[in-house]
Amino acid sequence: MKRTSLLFTAVIISMLGYSQHSQLPLPYSVNSLEPFIDRETMEIHYDKHHMAYINNLNKAIEGTEYESASIDELQRLINESTPFAVRNNGGGHWNHTFFWTILTPEFNKPIPKALHDAINKNFGSYDKFVAEFKKAALSRFGSGWAWLIVKDGKLLITSTPNQDNPLMPVAEVQGTPILGLDIWEHAYYLKYQNRRGDYIDAFFNIVDWQKVQELYDLSIKK
Ligand code: MN
Repeated sequence: MKRTSLLFTAVIISMLGYSQHSQLPLPYSVNSLEPFIDRETMEIHYDKHHMAYINNLNKAIEGTEYESASIDELQRLINESTPFAVRNNGGGHWNHTFFWTILTPEFNKPIPKALHDAINKNFGSYDKFVAEFKKAALSRFGSGWAWLIVKDGKLLITSTPNQDNPLMPVAEVQGTPILGLDIWEHAYYLKYQNRRGDYIDAFFNIVDWQKVQELYDLSIKK
């Protein structure tokens, strides 16, 4: 092998060995979810909080068995003996990446028929679904997430503490998330202060139901 191709191979191998996680661009502008989520909250949430999870995750996995896992694979590796820095920051990165994609500046997007039918079948009606989701989000004590998941082909609502998610084997209820809401105070405090319920109500105006339908389709094909 020539020296240049050896060098090239070494560079590729070292790149493969380094699984540095990075942030995807926000798919809309920071002020485009107003008035439901304000610009300042979006800026701090995306630029500071999400980025901190990524930086801390990259530090925590360096030189460990978790280094080569993709961010999706990492969720499934989380067990009771996983270091908390990997669990919290790995979950934090996955959860926020997911959260940005299920929001849209196209307010009150209609729910595609197939998903609407599935919601009616599993919860009785859209309003009952929203009420159950809100209850789960309100009753999660402290910081965490509320989720709509697919488990064995059925829709379920659940919540997780901290930055855990239903993909993790440590989750009380496991399944494939198709909708998620960040209920950490950093996600709403500037605008809503202690009114978590108002923030949850606002959230339902900015859900990208087309995206949720796509995730639903993928999850039932599995
Ligand atoms: Mn957050």
